Amino acid sequence: MTVMNGNPTIPAPVNDPILTYAPGTLERAELQAELEVQSTTVVDIPLVIGGEEIRTGNTRNVVMPHAHSHVLATVHQAGTKEIGQAVSAAAGAHHEWSTTHWEDRAAIFLRAADLLAGPWRQKLNAATMLGQSKTAFQAEIDSACEIIDFFRFGAHFAERIYGMQPLSEAGVWNRAEYRALEGFIYAVTPFNFTAIGANLSGTPAMMGNTVVWKPGRTSMLSNYYVLKLLEEAGLPAGVINFVAGDAGLITSELLTQKELAGVHFTGSTAVFNSFWKTIGGNIGEYGSYPRIVGETGGKNFIVVHPSAELNAVKTAIVRGAFEYQGQKCSAASRAYVPASLWKDLEGPLIEETESLTMGDPRDFTNFMNAVIDQKAYDKITSYIDEAKKSNEAEVIAGGTYDDSEGWFIRPTIIQTKKPDYISMCDEIFGPVISIFVYDDGDWAKTLQLVDATSPYALTGAVFAKDIRAIREACDTLRNSAGNFYINDKPTGAVVGQQPFGGGRASGTNDKAGSIMNLLRWVSARSIKETFVPPLDYRYPFMDDE
Ligand code: NAD
Repeated sequence: MTVMNGNPTIPAPVNDPILTYAPGTLERAELQAELEVQSTTVVDIPLVIGGEEIRTGNTRNVVMPHAHSHVLATVHQAGTKEIGQAVSAAAGAHHEWSTTHWEDRAAIFLRAADLLAGPWRQKLNAATMLGQSKTAFQAEIDSACEIIDFFRFGAHFAERIYGMQPLSEAGVWNRAEYRALEGFIYAVTPFNFTAIGANLSGTPAMMGNTVVWKPGRTSMLSNYYVLKLLEEAGLPAGVINFVAGDAGLITSELLTQKELAGVHFTGSTAVFNSFWKTIGGNIGEYGSYPRIVGETGGKNFIVVHPSAELNAVKTAIVRGAFEYQGQKCSAASRAYVPASLWKDLEGPLIEETESLTMGDPRDFTNFMNAVIDQKAYDKITSYIDEAKKSNEAEVIAGGTYDDSEGWFIRPTIIQTKKPDYISMCDEIFGPVISIFVYDDGDWAKTLQLVDATSPYALTGAVFAKDIRAIREACDTLRNSAGNFYINDKPTGAVVGQQPFGGGRASGTNDKAGSIMNLLRWVSARSIKETFVPPLDYRYPFMDDE
């Protein structure tokens, strides 16, 4: 390819505006039409390796979580042979892609962002709504806005990275080259955000890497459309290889490849820990040290000071804990409320929780839909059953569930007098929040409790009007959350505004979608050029007096 003489700049990114889907809007009509199409089609999802669609004939169904007898797609599963082909395809595409000029790579992602902002928007949103059981709004902020933002801000951050150049003293020109990593990146993504699939596979690719992408088992339809979107935008064959199948098999094959250059993971802590262990055990076998980036579990808190505004707390709990059925990594799942506020909050909070509408996402009046699968349903309901039996906890709202048509669990509030009751500590990943009511005088002690109760440190929020209380919470909870909110719910981070990620058992905190994350996917080469090289090895100090 010929090189362009010029230093083009990436258009300044702005966050994609969230469409409302209010009655009468064009976007609502377009989305409803697309929902109808996707509800009456069964998609056959192949593996996509080296740009080839591969159908192994060994398939799994993708169903609607809210109507689990409805099959949306069948997905071909990779075996050892196809996994090997994906590694070869990534290797085969590496040289040309990693040496393609960065602005040509960026252009593909900017084009994908514009396609998604326009003609592809409702395809991705409808697939996310039907396959992952999200409301129109939850899909819009995920599979439209966040992916668009990841791609547009990503291109902007890439430009900044490539622009980071060293000083040069007289007679010398120092340069930095930000090379792609040598080998392939293994991107492993969860079910809960289509945008995470796009980001974890797309961002390393934008920086010149080639990728083997294993999407979550229950987000295959939307994730497949992400790949098709990138193909439509011009992504060359072999740059991102889409491999569905048994997670354990794919992972054990890929993590032991000499060419493994990095892992870009989001999912649960236990799975990430097992990846790290395997890589550690295999460390002498790789061509280079694999970069390991993982965003994992959370036990996100809301801590309320007696000076807080009651209705703001109520709204933050309802939205923070129950939107998308509590299946956001950032979802609030434990709250600490002072006794003085609880006496006025309890009734309205229960009433509002019981009033939340739940059902099929195609009915736009629903605030909530179903949880993702039977395994999640069984796990979440076991915590509810446990609380019902326990004399240390009480279910004060919700607590009912029904999986006859879809995996539906009513939004549930557990109140406990035991601050380390199991539901205050474990990540449940469903529409369940646990509440501990503390004596008003115990503010400082409660902050310590928030910090020490869970091994995670993803998101958290403080509600207070008293500025000293806010300052104290910021200080005591410095390491308790990677995303910390003041008088706002702990969910809803926006690319470019609140870079997302947590520490402790919540991950490596490389901040998805930020320049910090992009830096993990390049390996810098320092180049020094001396204009007039010395011709004599002797230094002046060696001269005769
Ligand atoms: P998960 O850990 O079950 O799956 C994540 C990915 O790992 C999937 O692709 C899955 O197929 C794969 N996987 C599962 N078991 C595996 C195994 N034994 N070996 C190899 N791969 C395996 O997580 P999930 O249910 O898809 O998503 C929910 C989890 O993700 C929650 O713990 C949530 O907190 C976390 N999450 C974190 C963030 C964050 O930014 N910190 C964001 C989203 C989700």
